[in-house]
Amino acid sequence: MTKKGRVFSGARPTGRQHLGNYLGAIKNYVAMQDDYDCVYCIVDVHALTTMDTTMELRTNTYDMALDWLAAGIRPEESIVFIQSHVPQVMELHTYLSMVTPLGKLTDLPTFKEKVRQNPNNVNYGLVGYPVLMAADIVLYKADYVPVGIDQAPHLEFTRECVRSFNYRYNCKALIEPQMKATEFPKVLGIDGVQKMGKSLNNHIELASTPEETAKRVMTMVTDPQRLRRTDPGNPDVCNVFSLHKMFTSAEDLANINVECRRAGIGCVDCKKKLAANLNSHFEPFRARRAELDQKPDHIWEILDDGAIRARKIAEATMVEVREAIGLP
Ligand code: SF4
Repeated sequence: MTKKGRVFSGARPTGRQHLGNYLGAIKNYVAMQDDYDCVYCIVDVHALTTMDTTMELRTNTYDMALDWLAAGIRPEESIVFIQSHVPQVMELHTYLSMVTPLGKLTDLPTFKEKVRQNPNNVNYGLVGYPVLMAADIVLYKADYVPVGIDQAPHLEFTRECVRSFNYRYNCKALIEPQMKATEFPKVLGIDGVQKMGKSLNNHIELASTPEETAKRVMTMVTDPQRLRRTDPGNPDVCNVFSLHKMFTSAEDLANINVECRRAGIGCVDCKKKLAANLNSHFEPFRARRAELDQKPDHIWEILDDGAIRARKIAEATMVEVREAIGLP
């Protein structure tokens, strides 16, 4: 089947993936494979910009790759690799940095936010982060990058980098990627307040056992106004219901929606249903994950193979780039 173009997306190695990662990225990664040539990168160099220790980098990379593959990323079709295994990205980053005004980088709201988060480690790499991100995308001549509306400025920055480079060297070596507008549902954590995240310990891991999953779900915050079992609830403000929308059949969902409002169902039963649905949804994932995890070497081989394929595309781009610059 002819695909509609090449998609690039990268994610930091955060280890075992959770529901937020699944609904916000992995599910989409899997689906896009049907229509696009996909390049999925574990961006370990990006992670270094804000890391104090690299002790868990290797394990986190492995665990993330394992979850991606178990979720349905097909390495025989898609290129799955580790950013640092393709050194050409560092080279392109350097060249792109020559056409990027420093003020532009320090004015970016994301840079200011990162400085606020890491005031004691405002390093050179952190400033150049968007340039490295641009290099990631354009190195593989990606046609599309899946981005939510709030990330559109990042992609615009990449497009500007491409225009600056092509203008400076009077060439067409790099192509401007298009935004593949994607809806990323905001998945709240079990606290029902903040975005689901590992650092906040409000997450539910995909690879958890059914018992662990049920335990986490049972601690989820529901409609704060519903204090007693006999109080009617409001599913519209309940995070349990938000997750039901993703994992529960339309019929059951409609039923919960009605019963909650007239106190016909209690939160305990409602959560039990959600836990059961999550566990049945992720049962095949967990089985595949356990099977893949039997052969860790195979996971590293998949990543090595991905890097070989990625380097091939990268080097072809770099030949054009070096020639356009006029490097001797
Ligand atoms: Fe939320 Fe379900 Fe309780 Fe309603 S019954 S408040 S939807 S957990």
